[in-house]
Amino acid sequence: MKEIKLSFDINLTLKQYDVHWIEQQLLRLREEVFLNILWKVLREIEALAVGNRGRCEECGGLLVRNGREYKQIRTLVGALRYRRIRLRCRGCGREIYPLEM
Ligand SMILES: [Zn+2]
Repeated sequence: MKEIKLSFDINLTLKQYDVHWIEQQLLRLREEVFLNILWKVLREIEALAVGNRGRCEECGGLLVRNGREYKQIRTLVGALRYRRIRLRCRGCGREIYPLEM
């Protein structure tokens, strides 16, 4: 099992020191935070997969980076635009995406 550690900053301008106001601001931020975390997790998954998986499962050929593929991902809170990494096998020419969608 892999563990991914994520961290990022949230900028919250404190216009009021009112718990209800802060609560509303956080509710407003949650979609942005969700999509930001999802994006980071996907990037981490790809980085791990590209780092570990050097050979084609079919023919054992070397896998090389072959650009990225644009994807629009539907999530629970909205759409996320993501360009996933594409690999190509030098042996059989098969295209492989470390991230399944
Ligand atoms: Zn292959």
